[in-house]
Amino acid sequence: MNLEEIFSELLNVGCCNRCSLRLLGDKYSNFENSEQSLIDLLPVTSEDQVRTKRVRRNPCCLCLGLLEDAFLYQIMGHSCWCDIQDYDSDSFRINLNTPANICIRDRAMHLYIKQKFPDFYELQNSKEIILNMHETFKIAFKAKLEKHCGKTYDVYSGIQLWVTVHHDDYEKEVEVMQFLDPQTYKRRKSLKFMKTFAKNAVKETLGKVDDHTFLKFVKIPPSIPSSSVKLVSVDLECLPLFVTGRYCKYSRLIKQVPWDYHVSSNTESTVLPKTESDTTDTYTDFDSVNCVRNIIFDGLRRVFRLDKEKMTFCASGRDEPNMRCLGSGRPFCVKIEIPRKHLPDELFRELEETINESPDVAVFDMQLTNKGCRGSFCAFWGIGHTADAGTDLPFVRQTFNLDYLVIRRSTI
Ligand SMILES: [Zn+2]
Repeated sequence: MNLEEIFSELLNVGCCNRCSLRLLGDKYSNFENSEQSLIDLLPVTSEDQVRTKRVRRNPCCLCLGLLEDAFLYQIMGHSCWCDIQDYDSDSFRINLNTPANICIRDRAMHLYIKQKFPDFYELQNSKEIILNMHETFKIAFKAKLEKHCGKTYDVYSGIQLWVTVHHDDYEKEVEVMQFLDPQTYKRRKSLKFMKTFAKNAVKETLGKVDDHTFLKFVKIPPSIPSSSVKLVSVDLECLPLFVTGRYCKYSRLIKQVPWDYHVSSNTESTVLPKTESDTTDTYTDFDSVNCVRNIIFDGLRRVFRLDKEKMTFCASGRDEPNMRCLGSGRPFCVKIEIPRKHLPDELFRELEETINESPDVAVFDMQLTNKGCRGSFCAFWGIGHTADAGTDLPFVRQTFNLDYLVIRRSTI
């Protein structure tokens, strides 16, 4: 098996250096400097050959220019890099939304290699060392993008850039799918609100169609494209942060969350339905109510300068307004939307001290989590006070403007 010969063939059919390296090397190759990696991999090939060996200056027939530097410069010129500086986070990640015809071309090229160099194909696939296109993109351009924006690439970052890419021949090339799997695409065409040749559908078809059928309809090697991929948009998304902890409640006079009721300070709560004659003065201002949620929100606002309107509180268990919560406390979670601030771990102890200045509530074990808050929010907390569901349900419906309400659980 001669790697030189395979490399020469890949260039002849119109592959770029990075795609050639992706097929020839392994996933640990240096994709950032693909030319040097190819020279190291193919000692007989000189530096000039790697640089000039491509027959035509065309977009790559495999990645359609996605892995070429010109496309990276398009992304780097986007305004998203100014917007990302508004976020205090020191990391970011990139997700690619690429046209589905790249997947068809990828399969076609693999089959071409399989036919032309069967020994090499078996070796590469048995080792599972071929990197997919998206991973190659990230490995190749990560360092340059990090330098460009001054942040670190991190797959767990809450700051995500969604890069959407288009190719002019996309519609024309994916039409072959209807010959590979006629039934599926006939059904999809009849469905009004479904994209017929959606990427997931194309990938699913490519996964189940056998080589023989594929080769009947798709030309190998893939043709030389007339144009490169184009950058459509780069959208910035900031994932919510989740702060978890446990709280103890030492007062019988406060609740977990504010209620839209006037409640007496003893065990007999008085529920006052809202009527048109009520004025705002007679109703509770949710943000100023002394309750566990607001005490914790105040602490987060003071220590991390977070906007209270962007926070959602969720605690386990039901709210017992006239009972204390002692011992190891009750777990809770705060979801923070569009957090422009980074929350350093070392400030969580200061946060606990700030919240614990309240005589009514103590918190501990507060920390950031990336697992989110599972479970549903307590949407029916008010109903726990109803003595007669038949009488009170209409009131609850009216108060919360609910068209449909069912009590699924009751506690005596
Ligand atoms: Zn390429």
